[in-house]
Amino acid sequence: MSLNKVRVRFAPSPTGPLHMGGVRTALYNYLFAKKNNGTFILRIEDTDQNRFVEGAQDYILNSFKWCGITPDEGPGIGGNYGPYVQSERKDMYQEYAQRLIQSEHAYYAFDTSEELTKMRDEAKKMGMPNWQYNGVSRVNMRNSLTLPKSEVEKLIENKEPYVIRMKMPRNEDVRFEDEIRGWVVVNTNNLDDKVLYKSDGMPTYHLANIVDDHAMEISHVIRGEEWLPSAPLHVLLYDAFNWERPQFAHLPLLLKPDGNGKLSKRDGDRLGFPVFPLDWTTSDGELYSGYKEKGYFPEAFINMLAFLGWNPGTQQELFNLEELCEAFGLNRVSKGGAKFDPEKTRWFQQQYIRATKNEKLAELLADKFPSSLTNDQKVTICSLMKERATFADDIIKDGVYLYEKPTSFDEKVLSKKWKDNTASLIEQWIEILKEIKSFTSENIEADFKAFLEKNQLGFGAVLLPFRILVTGVGAGPGMFDISEFLGKEEVLDRIEKGLVQIERIKNEA
Ligand code: GLU
Repeated sequence: MSLNKVRVRFAPSPTGPLHMGGVRTALYNYLFAKKNNGTFILRIEDTDQNRFVEGAQDYILNSFKWCGITPDEGPGIGGNYGPYVQSERKDMYQEYAQRLIQSEHAYYAFDTSEELTKMRDEAKKMGMPNWQYNGVSRVNMRNSLTLPKSEVEKLIENKEPYVIRMKMPRNEDVRFEDEIRGWVVVNTNNLDDKVLYKSDGMPTYHLANIVDDHAMEISHVIRGEEWLPSAPLHVLLYDAFNWERPQFAHLPLLLKPDGNGKLSKRDGDRLGFPVFPLDWTTSDGELYSGYKEKGYFPEAFINMLAFLGWNPGTQQELFNLEELCEAFGLNRVSKGGAKFDPEKTRWFQQQYIRATKNEKLAELLADKFPSSLTNDQKVTICSLMKERATFADDIIKDGVYLYEKPTSFDEKVLSKKWKDNTASLIEQWIEILKEIKSFTSENIEADFKAFLEKNQLGFGAVLLPFRILVTGVGAGPGMFDISEFLGKEEVLDRIEKGLVQIERIKNEA
């Protein structure tokens, strides 16, 4: 077997909802596969039954669906290398653990958890807080390297619980070339005898992960930096089995916006932005918010994620998924941690909402608009409002005056911009508006400018009061466009009613 065909996998453990860092790992794997005509595999690593969380696997699949990342092989998808859930592959790992025992790369350890705790406590008392089961300490423990063979056989026959541990060689340099970090060299004296197979008959992550990567012919292991410390053990396991090693690429961490430490699941709601793709409610009823429910478009989310640790080497920032597949390469993934920037994330969303066709936005919002509006009106509202919106819902919320008369007037703007002569200027403006035959944005604008010129007025003197009267607020899309949309009758009605109300407010003040 040769790993010359690109096959990559995303291998989450279903221990909770998928963090955006996890989605980025999946995305980079997906992009790498697509760029290289390869295969992207989803494998569920559920060998740690204690940490299994109901619903986590569905959450991963739903997140992928929302993001538009489709695995080529995986649970519920199929493929020639299944099953793709490790608990369904349970029976095969035992044989591989045995092989390592036979080749003397691993051994049985019978130490009870009480014995291990005792060792740790004694070491602590002697000033060694980080006791490890390793090449030095193993000689004092109860394992198949220290006990006579007959006793080992008896213990196994009597079904005494045991684990299988890696027999970490002493003082060897483990070397491998990481696609992102370059050469990594670790001396085995710094590594412990990791458990490979547990007393509950399940492999640990390390064994299952490399057995499956080999069985699934994974060519590149692209995963988060937190797995870098495990890589030397994995490399040694490949060598012990005499298997070809995959290429490794350890992705940079996602950091908090201030750069101080890893972005954690608690940061999001604490700092006011989601760190999960979709909403997730814990079994205690705690809600972690998701990008989807906050109103982000998946395209914006993906684009933002792609840039957290990668850049295309050009000024271009907006990439759809297809363009990302084309542009992506591990050579442009950075080593240093990637600072998450909530403002930039909003910026991406703003770019995407602007680029979305008005018809599409109207369709998205169809149920949220008042039913009295025609489709054409909805489309025009979207075209007027989207430049200032971040989320689609903002169009409805901020553009309420496009389908309802204002019920209040921004007092700050009023107190600053409503002068003693404002009402009389507006009255003159009303007369001009009444005379406009074809009530188009261009015609209204032309007459407005002529009116200002004739009276030697600045733009703001009439435009802002005009805006306040028609919309109730001090900012929004172009007033002439708004006026054309509302129509002459409605504009005049609003101005006249507004004038009365504002004059009353002014008199009361
Ligand atoms: N199951 C591991 C995780 O939860 C996979 C790590 C790897 O990709 O090797 O992230």
